[in-house]
Amino acid sequence: MAIRVYPYVGPADIKAMVAASPAGTALTDLDALARWHASQSSDERDEPFTYVVGLDGVMRVAPRRSEHVACAGGASVLAADEIAFRDEPWSAVSVSNQSTGYCPDVTCWPSVAAALDRLGVGRPAGFTTEIPFRRCTACAEINTVRDGDLVCVFCDADLPAAWNIRPRTPPPAWGT
Ligand SMILES: [Zn+2]
Repeated sequence: MAIRVYPYVGPADIKAMVAASPAGTALTDLDALARWHASQSSDERDEPFTYVVGLDGVMRVAPRRSEHVACAGGASVLAADEIAFRDEPWSAVSVSNQSTGYCPDVTCWPSVAAALDRLGVGRPAGFTTEIPFRRCTACAEINTVRDGDLVCVFCDADLPAAWNIRPRTPPPAWGT
């Protein structure tokens, strides 16, 4: 399956608000992960971190309160959400795909796996929490599908069987 690129699909005001924020720390090797992890407060280390996998295949991380779009430096991603690490040896104990800023499909796991494998970080066989995203074709709201229930929580319409989140088409300009 071809690797899918996920552009930001969240609210424009959040993207604008974080435009000046620093991007996440690029985990280019295991030392980078160890240094970055050690620099986080113990409170931060007790929680999962925000992550994105950039188009270069490199994972970037930031404290949990960070917006994914800030972590990504405003760019499109291959995967995004939260990850928790354990040391000795380094491994990812939990990874999820519930980024409402990017709504990556559950099929983005290979991008996460490749980024962790390249670092030499142990990992689970797949997302530990897997969230299917669907945009309702009736009301256009984005749903997170729970328990395989393909019904829109906003309008009760049936949701599509396959992932279908793309940026909203900009509204047509009225008059000029
Ligand atoms: Zn709906």
